[in-house]
Amino acid sequence: MTPGIRPLIAGNWKMNGSWRGSRRLADAVRDAAPALDCSLLVCPPFLHVQAVAATLLGSPVAVGGQDCHAKPSGAHTGDIGAPMLRDAGATHVLLGHSERRADHGESSALVFAKCEAALAAGLTPVVCVGETEAQRDAGHAEAVVGQQLSESLPLGFITAGGIIAYEPVWAIGTGRTPTEADIAAMHAHMRRRLVLAFGPTAELTRLLYGGSVKPSNAAAILALPDVDGALVGGASLVADDFIAIAQAVPRG
Ligand code: PEP
Repeated sequence: MTPGIRPLIAGNWKMNGSWRGSRRLADAVRDAAPALDCSLLVCPPFLHVQAVAATLLGSPVAVGGQDCHAKPSGAHTGDIGAPMLRDAGATHVLLGHSERRADHGESSALVFAKCEAALAAGLTPVVCVGETEAQRDAGHAEAVVGQQLSESLPLGFITAGGIIAYEPVWAIGTGRTPTEADIAAMHAHMRRRLVLAFGPTAELTRLLYGGSVKPSNAAAILALPDVDGALVGGASLVADDFIAIAQAVPRG
């Protein structure tokens, strides 16, 4: 945790669920929210954003998309523009998730352009960065993440409250996590890079950890310095697990 930052627990539901299931999950998170000492965000599939946003209207739980196009509108079959997400009730958008980078060949330059589109639409971007296992084994993890940060974040990202999620690719959906020391070292590295690039305002940028966070490891991870919350994939699909992770946020 970083003093002065309210932790955020975010759920990435990926390509899962029916709209009824999404609404049920949203209902459970909404009902638990008042007793939780953190901010909450859920990112349903595009098709469910509007129904989930309607369910969460007036609650403290925010809704995000999982991606957006770099252009606000136009001839881009199958894509979703940031203003459409905003219109559907989203306030946040995940960008540069490693599954987007791998499945759709997204580069940091494209993430930069998407970030600009998100900011222009009034959405808070949550930019995901992280190294592969081969890059970590080769001792390049910090360099890779540093480069992703410097190539993905436009001017205005920090002052608009943009969020970073460090998600080692090899930890996503595998049940494996880096050591606590490795997570803390990477988050300290990211904080230094951001402050160097954007100035002292970046001291208050939320740095989330993501990759196999579950109720059993959440408390230890969330207690680390410069870890200001978590981006949760698989465990966010089970309401009790997601809520248990949020309950593990250390009391400030
Ligand atoms: C993710 O994909 O953002 C993620 C963190 O997944 P998981 O929690 O399932 O590892």
